[in-house]
Amino acid sequence: MTTVESNPAFRDLYAFFRGQIVPLSEARVNVMTHALHYGTGVFEGIRGNWNEEQGVINIFRLREHYDRLLRGCRLLMLDIPYTADDLCEITVDLVERNRHQQDIYIRPLAYKSAEMVANLKLQDLASDFTLITVPFGNYLGSDTLRCCTSSWRRVDDPMIPARLKICGIYVNSILAKTEATLAGYDEAIILNHDGHVCEGSGENLFLVSDGKLHTSSLEDNVLPGITRETVIQLAQSELGLDVVERTIDRSELYLADEIFLTGTAAHLTPVIELDHRPIADGKSGPISTQLQKMYFDIVVGRNPKYQHWCTAASPRLVTV
Ligand code: PMP
Repeated sequence: MTTVESNPAFRDLYAFFRGQIVPLSEARVNVMTHALHYGTGVFEGIRGNWNEEQGVINIFRLREHYDRLLRGCRLLMLDIPYTADDLCEITVDLVERNRHQQDIYIRPLAYKSAEMVANLKLQDLASDFTLITVPFGNYLGSDTLRCCTSSWRRVDDPMIPARLKICGIYVNSILAKTEATLAGYDEAIILNHDGHVCEGSGENLFLVSDGKLHTSSLEDNVLPGITRETVIQLAQSELGLDVVERTIDRSELYLADEIFLTGTAAHLTPVIELDHRPIADGKSGPISTQLQKMYFDIVVGRNPKYQHWCTAASPRLVTV
């Protein structure tokens, strides 16, 4: 079993827990914790990208991630005593204290911390916020993806809103990703309840057709991805492409000129095969390749025009 103590990558790390920075090994919750039983939390996945020349970690679109987390807190009645500005500050502080000099993943979690089960409601239950940062590499394990259409369907807004990163909802993504990876694929493409294209287990989906970029509209139960929004802006302003947000049929995927997935963890990764059918010629397409390169330069802080999307954290020696 992997534990914080047994994994050398985690051994010297700190976490933000119950209002202070503590060694990661001491950031523990009780088995009675509400969120552990019912998934009553919201989280974020944020990347910090190590820039060797600058000697800093560039945290990508930090503020936007916390705006989304706080929207989730409103929905789940998670009353945490921090503003988005406070959360950004806590994050930079923790990243610096952890003295990472490599790419990292930043995981904030707001959750129902009440140690009380058999209590199926949100009100009158204590909430808390915790934060960890860990080294992180290539998430999908491959530069180009072979995907399958999942037999699982995406949760629908009247069931649990997919537009927020609610902990419990991720069982839906995990069922799909488990099915796909056990069958030898890299990722699952999940359809809506009504059979339209939704997204990957942890990524938004784009397709190129007729020289335009198409992506599922937010009303189709996709997460409003921060990478999705970034790529839409870049495609329009840097490549002059039309971007259409609309309902997409499954069959359109097989006929697309290009498909790619976007996400904080996944960056922008081309899909070259779906359900054993190659997408176009089965190679990364030109628009995916251009956007991928542009996105990557921006997230590591190599494009001054978009530097405002990066928050720099400098590793330093701090004793706690
Ligand atoms: N969809 C789902 C279900 C996700 O979990 C993620 C990852 N947060 C995304 C899309 C991509 O969102 P973002 O670009 O904000 O990471």
